[in-house]
Amino acid sequence: MLIGIPAETRAGEARVAATAETVKKLAASGHRVVVEAGAGLRAAQTDDAFRAAGAEIVDRAAALGAELVLKVRLPQDDELAAMRRGAALIGMLEPFNDAGIAAMNAAGLTAFALEAAPRTTRAQSMDVLSSQANIAGYKAVLLAATTYGRMMPMMMTAAGTVKAARVLILGAGVAGLQAIATAKRLGAVIEASDVRPAVKEQIESLGAKFVDVPFETEEEREIAQGVGGYARPMPAAWMQRQAAAVAERMKQADIVITTALIPGRKAPVLVTEEMVKSMKPGSVILDMAVEQGGNCALSEAGATVVKYGVSIIGQPNLPATVPADASALYARNVLDFLKLVVDKDGALAVNREDDIVAACLLCAGGELVRRNG
Ligand code: NAD
Repeated sequence: MLIGIPAETRAGEARVAATAETVKKLAASGHRVVVEAGAGLRAAQTDDAFRAAGAEIVDRAAALGAELVLKVRLPQDDELAAMRRGAALIGMLEPFNDAGIAAMNAAGLTAFALEAAPRTTRAQSMDVLSSQANIAGYKAVLLAATTYGRMMPMMMTAAGTVKAARVLILGAGVAGLQAIATAKRLGAVIEASDVRPAVKEQIESLGAKFVDVPFETEEEREIAQGVGGYARPMPAAWMQRQAAAVAERMKQADIVITTALIPGRKAPVLVTEEMVKSMKPGSVILDMAVEQGGNCALSEAGATVVKYGVSIIGQPNLPATVPADASALYARNVLDFLKLVVDKDGALAVNREDDIVAACLLCAGGELVRRNG
């Protein structure tokens, strides 16, 4: 099959959907791989490395005009216009974005959104949410640490003792757990909160303290289990008790990292203006949910704002700020998914009986397969 890898053109996007490592494997399986000139440069993948791996370096139109296009982000209108009807597309294609799905369907594409893969053991090697959230959690701590005007570890020096930073992590999924691990390595004292009781053990095993918000009804306990590992919106009474617990911790915290998400919905607001006001001057909040509306009421996407002496970082798309590793892991996720949709003769074969394929399929050659609203 002719496989194309175009450059990503969305603002701030520095990742690429294939690396020399994955291109080599695709070429070895008999595919013809074409890569847009310069597509991998920001991710440390040179044209020469792609060429040595067996790819041809081509212009944008040729990369977008392949039978199968590998992308990182949802194509924009000009990209859709350049793709051929009947082509296949694999990427992080925003499975909750009905307008995006409709546009890909109108372009006659067979499109797979990797974010929609189930969180099962078999799907682990193609789990883009995990590979990218892990990087985001790491980078969030580094960004917050460099914005914070003090140090993270406790230090005893001849000039006096420096206290360890107190870090509060709200939401302990993949990103939050990596944020705990990274902050721990830097020497911080960490507390973390989540709705799902299953994460208590994981938080504690990383050396952080779990902020316990006990359940008062069976309904609360039931909802907190989530579905498929994901959180569900919690009842208002629990959210109020969580807010009270968070408010107490915020007064002590030096750095707060928020990662709480509920798939397909606006992120829950966990940090109010009042809570920001109560923080110590010089504290830092990094809102990883800023693209989904934000966990902090005062965060702004794409900006670091200072409110009541607190720096609030709203850096979107954190994985793209670690483009080489983010691309390397993403490209391996894509390669593993390809094994499910390419038959032994190297042709596209969409087996809807496969739960991973079925979950990721958005549209298929003019048939709208997924509609959320
Ligand atoms: P996510 O990015 O969807 O959400 C981040 C975290 O925010 C979650 O832990 C969620 O419970 C939490 N959250 C939501 N509302 C909250 C609130 N009001 N207060 C505090 N926290 C709140 O989550 P994710 O990182 O994608 O992980 C989702 C699930 O998938 C987890 O159960 C994880 O263990 C599981 N997972 C499974 C596999 C696998 O088996 N292959 C791989 C990766 C992740």
